[in-house]
Amino acid sequence: MDFTLGERSDIFREEARAFLAEAFTPEVKETMHETGVHHNWDFHKALVEKGWLAPGWPVEYGGQGRDPMEMLAFSEEFQRAGAPTYGVGTTIMVSSILRHLGTEEQKQEFLPRALRGEIIIVLGFTEPESGSDVAAAQTRAVRDGDEWIINGQKMFTTNAQEGDYAFMLTRTNPDVPKHQGLTTFLVPLRQEGVEIQAVRTLSGERTNLTFYNDVRVPDAMRIGEVDGGWDVMTVGLTFERSGAQGGESIRLLEEMEEWVLSAHDDDGNPRREDPDVLARLGKAAAENEVSSLMGRRSAWVHDTGGMPGVEGSMGKLFSSEALTRQSGDFVDLLGADGIRSQGDPSAIQGGAADYAFRFALGATTYGGTSEVQRNIIAQRGLGLPRAK
Ligand SMILES: Cc1cc2nc3c(=O)[nH]c(=O)nc-3n(C[C@H](O)[C@H](O)[C@H](O)COP(=O)(O)OP(=O)(O)OC[C@H]3O[C@@H](n4cnc5c(N)ncnc54)[C@H](O)[C@@H]3O)c2cc1C
Repeated sequence: MDFTLGERSDIFREEARAFLAEAFTPEVKETMHETGVHHNWDFHKALVEKGWLAPGWPVEYGGQGRDPMEMLAFSEEFQRAGAPTYGVGTTIMVSSILRHLGTEEQKQEFLPRALRGEIIIVLGFTEPESGSDVAAAQTRAVRDGDEWIINGQKMFTTNAQEGDYAFMLTRTNPDVPKHQGLTTFLVPLRQEGVEIQAVRTLSGERTNLTFYNDVRVPDAMRIGEVDGGWDVMTVGLTFERSGAQGGESIRLLEEMEEWVLSAHDDDGNPRREDPDVLARLGKAAAENEVSSLMGRRSAWVHDTGGMPGVEGSMGKLFSSEALTRQSGDFVDLLGADGIRSQGDPSAIQGGAADYAFRFALGATTYGGTSEVQRNIIAQRGLGLPRAK
């Protein structure tokens, strides 16, 4: 069994590192932390110039035909750096759905614009009354000739303030079982009737509440069949949960390794000689290895023609919970100094532990909470019946 990603992946990883060293500047980092927005247009344009918005896509669609193992190395580097990739991530995720399920016209209209970096597409699934149970969406779409009229509200529409379109789950038939009355659309966000309100999360990250009041969408912007939105969502959620995992944890451990080499306790003893400190770092290193291997397993499933559904859920569950454990452990280790936040000049390692602790709680929630991932693993992985 070969656990390496291969020479091509190693070369691509080095190219990604060199790019990040140049394009992920201290200014970009600072803007990201100040605004809480994990999208940066300069960084986005630099990615476009490299042809790196979707390097894993086939060449005929504007990609570079990179294989899943190369893509894994690439994503691991971007995650480890903490680069602002949410905008590109959701845009390419939805574009991938269009590549698989969109009409020819939709492919021709949206895919080149997405790859040229001209549009950002965000995700409009969650609502105030439906998150985990995403199929309970109430936002209504009612047909009016060649158009649909949308009314409702979405919660956590991250990057909507930067976005051009929301990939939106709507209710088109309230009289059938909930999974059978849903339809997905690409809804233009810059139009009358759309209102965007900022929401701040615990880590300072900005997301949004979005409101839709008599918003008109041409039928040509419908993705998939009328009332067939659940099939489209199944593909979308699988894309959202698969791929590299654990970048935040790797970065946090690197910060803690740097700290331990020069830190001393109150009696002047080097912290690197403290067995408790070493045990905490060792435990984190082992967990990071597991996260990384789970990401590689998903990539392998993809590489061999499968869809990494259960594998993606396992990786997402394990890596986000490992980050929760590790960041709590490191905040505990650092004591009062551990809760000094980013931006405080006296914060240890730039406030890395405090930031990771706050960020981790969101990571266990978005893309499906830990409980939901466990249910998916039990049902689809172990073949157990659906929970009531
Ligand atoms: C920072 C951030 C960014 C996000 N970005 C987006 C985005 O861009 N677009 C988007 O559409 N959504 C986004 N989300 C929403 C995210 O996907 C939802 O928060 C998530 O699916 C959980 O839904 P909820 O918040 O309504 O919680 P709920 O579903 O109300 O869950 C509350 C609690 O109940 C538990 N629970 C619920 N159902 C079950 C069950 N069947 N079994 C066991 N336990 C259960 C949950 O695990 C959780 O602990 C984002 C969330 C965050 C935090």
